[in-house]
Amino acid sequence: MTLVALLLGVTACAGGTDAPSPTPSPAEGSATAAPFVAPELATVEPVMVDGLDVEVTESLADTGYVYVAVPTFPDAPDITQLLRDQIQGRLDAFQQFEVPDDEDVKPELTVSWRLVGASPAVVGVRLAAAEAGGATFDGSAQTVWIDLETREARPVADLIEADAVPELLDRILAAGEADPRIDNQMLHDQMDGELEAFDAVAFTREGDLWVEFDRAQVATSTQPVAVAVDADGLLSPFGEAARDAALEPSDPAIAPAPSPSPTAAPVTTPTAASSLQTQALAGDTDCTVEQCIALTFDDGPVAATMDLLDALAERGAKATFFMVGQNVAANPDVVRRIADEGHALGNHTWDHPQLTRLDADSIRQEIESTSDAIEDATGVRPSLLRPPYGATDDAVAGVAADLGMAQILWDVDPEDWKDRDAGTVHQRVVDAAHRNAIVLSHDIHDTTRAAYPAIIDDLIAAGYTLVTVPDLLDDLEPGARYFNGD
Ligand code: ZN
Repeated sequence: MTLVALLLGVTACAGGTDAPSPTPSPAEGSATAAPFVAPELATVEPVMVDGLDVEVTESLADTGYVYVAVPTFPDAPDITQLLRDQIQGRLDAFQQFEVPDDEDVKPELTVSWRLVGASPAVVGVRLAAAEAGGATFDGSAQTVWIDLETREARPVADLIEADAVPELLDRILAAGEADPRIDNQMLHDQMDGELEAFDAVAFTREGDLWVEFDRAQVATSTQPVAVAVDADGLLSPFGEAARDAALEPSDPAIAPAPSPSPTAAPVTTPTAASSLQTQALAGDTDCTVEQCIALTFDDGPVAATMDLLDALAERGAKATFFMVGQNVAANPDVVRRIADEGHALGNHTWDHPQLTRLDADSIRQEIESTSDAIEDATGVRPSLLRPPYGATDDAVAGVAADLGMAQILWDVDPEDWKDRDAGTVHQRVVDAAHRNAIVLSHDIHDTTRAAYPAIIDDLIAAGYTLVTVPDLLDDLEPGARYFNGD
């Protein structure tokens, strides 16, 4: 609230800011202007935090798609709860949308995260939301700076010395004038007492303040826009600690929570018919002779994907993993094991948007950033794409073809995201299984991971050979869509 009060005071006396700016505004855009270089956010590689994992909340319902990811820290459920709390209101509001029946593109909420600071003193997380309802689209971002001494999320204003706020606001206005992406009238309007405009502050790679505005706050782009502001003389001691955590990050090694939140009840594993047999390794299988099935697992990897890999390895079964890039970056060791054990690597985009809503450049960026992360982890670049929600069109097919990737859909769906019950998932997969099927499941759910040992046993007992998608489909054509091996 301090920030609001000071903000109003400063705006009232910000007299000289109507003078012509040295750089043309976007409306006057000029090809001769000095090239503008957008500031780059300082981020921390998730692998720097030992034991960091990902928690995903998802809905694949036709009435609205949700993919919300937040990081989890070992033994610190309270820290993850602070992050959940930041987005819960948004999630609740989204789920009350009225859904138009005739929309090809479904309402959607995607929240992705980046670490923007990590040290034993402070952890910073940037949460970016993309929300679409019908034809509207809203891109926004916020940062959560968690004081590890008090284990509380501190407001952005705590990064700044209270008496330095007027100077900060002057510097934001000056930065806006030097930035051709910024509409300075919109920026001035934002400065008129909206604390929400200041819920996303982090640091650039040079150590300047990164002050980020939501879509439509200071520019006409659909994405948030950030300006860089010299931080000298502005930072509080907490702000200095946050900057250190951004520029020279270290493992926070968070101590266990003082009073741990209750953990979820253990999942009941259905009794496995335990006559196991080992089958031939993938690659040696001729699916014109064998009765093949391709199991596919989407939306991970998470640390617990290791349990599923154990179950597959114990039974000599192969599968295909369609992975989300930000989760690959958080769990590269899981991805390496997936590759090492002969499973197929698939691309499920960076943060799980409905690709039919994006332009070709954005589609390409979603896919390539994820392939980069998978290649960094394994040395292998995936040639299989699964568009989130199975939502695809000519534009998606065109980019996939350009990138040499086939689109892999499915024809068996146990709806394991909806019914979180291992017995139900087990029954549906086994009932719907057929030769050359591609089975969709999600390894982010404990109920799904619990279901699979028995599913694999039953399928093998029924005479199926469990193979990767490339084994099931010999000649994959880039851009083409496949639902099964028939
Ligand atoms: Zn998915």
